[in-house]
Amino acid sequence: METCELNAPEQLLEVNDLRTHFFLHEGTVRAVDGVSFSVCCGRTLGVIGESGCGKSVTAQSILRLVPEPPGKIVGGSICLYMPAKEGEAGKVLDIAKMTAGGEEIRSVRWKEISMVFQEPMTSLSPVHTVGDQIVEAMMLHLPGMEKEQAREQAIGLLDSVGIPKADKFIDAYSYQLSGGMRQRAMVAMALSCNPRLLIADEPTTALDVTIAAQMLALLQELKADRNMAMLYISHDLAVISEVSDDVMVMYLGVAVEVAEADEVFRHPMHPYTQALWRSIPSLEGELARLEPIAGTVPGPYVVHPGCRFFARCESAMAGKCNVAEPALVEVAPGHKVRCFLYSDRAEEPRADVETAQG
Ligand code: SF4
Repeated sequence: METCELNAPEQLLEVNDLRTHFFLHEGTVRAVDGVSFSVCCGRTLGVIGESGCGKSVTAQSILRLVPEPPGKIVGGSICLYMPAKEGEAGKVLDIAKMTAGGEEIRSVRWKEISMVFQEPMTSLSPVHTVGDQIVEAMMLHLPGMEKEQAREQAIGLLDSVGIPKADKFIDAYSYQLSGGMRQRAMVAMALSCNPRLLIADEPTTALDVTIAAQMLALLQELKADRNMAMLYISHDLAVISEVSDDVMVMYLGVAVEVAEADEVFRHPMHPYTQALWRSIPSLEGELARLEPIAGTVPGPYVVHPGCRFFARCESAMAGKCNVAEPALVEVAPGHKVRCFLYSDRAEEPRADVETAQG
């Protein structure tokens, strides 16, 4: 494993070469296969890619929620910066080295990093009231928190996420609520311990367009009010362009392009990013037929000797792109791309994968 160090003081989380694999009877699924990125204080990193590209497994790895077995973090580091407090110096923790379900990771969840899941109906307990779930989280993770005080704060939180009559709503069960209200309750719960980083994994997917727009506006408002960082996962380009300061495009378990949001949207460089952009409608210019991305995503057990996008890439160079995997390199200040069109650099061989399986 790599040493856990942060490269810049404003960084809150730095993920280096993260690899999370699933060892199944049918073969090994390399769901996350060498992902590196950082999230800075107060900024939103939008993660975009097709279903199965490893977005959610990356998020679950950060909170050590990947079921072990069959999943396992086989390489890389997840460095979380802990600021100085109560006479204690600031330090950097490596979440990848913590025991899943252990004391250390439990002290990180909720208070440092919290998560809003895609489907609130399966994330909220159907046999406990919304209030009881928020109060329990606060009493477990905030030392000295009394039940009455937690309930009062929970009502304030529900109110702040736009739930009317929060003092009544707090005693409702999740099945009594609409999808939008459930998702607001999930956001209130995720914010209950005042996390520094909120991971939002497709939080608007199950909502209709109007409610989804309200939810996006709410998350941005809360983020600004609390000076919180956010990792926002979506397959929807419009949503990512709306919420993100920085963007990471993922394909088959790796990051293929990382840059500030404006830069990625104005100057997409990787052929996959360009193809994604061409596949969405534009309000500008003449009406044109949308271009789907050719081919399909390869099966999960396929091992790629070269570039993972080779079979679908219009610019593929046979004899080069299918022989070695390109490295993610900086091609302009702050703009990284994984493609031989911009660099000749190939990835290092992956000794750690062999070790982990053996
Ligand atoms: Fe296409 Fe080759 Fe670039 Fe891969 S490395 S995206 S195959 S041009």
